[in-house]
Amino acid sequence: MAIFIEGMTCHFCGQPMRRDSDRISFSPFVVSQLDPLWVFSDGSFHAECVRGHPLGNQAVGVEKAVGFKQL
Ligand SMILES: [Zn+2]
Repeated sequence: MAIFIEGMTCHFCGQPMRRDSDRISFSPFVVSQLDPLWVFSDGSFHAECVRGHPLGNQAVGVEKAVGFKQL
């Protein structure tokens, strides 16, 4: 599971994330940097930013399919 530290910035919007904010942390579910979902792998983001990303729903679906826990 991705490491989350209070105040770390979201890759997509650059804004800090708070512990109590709605966020999604992904496991390292993508093995190739050439995969378009690579940007999500092992990262933490605002849930709103993931939902707003064109590949966000696909990333969530793929991670669930491979059996890792989503926070
Ligand atoms: Zn964000």
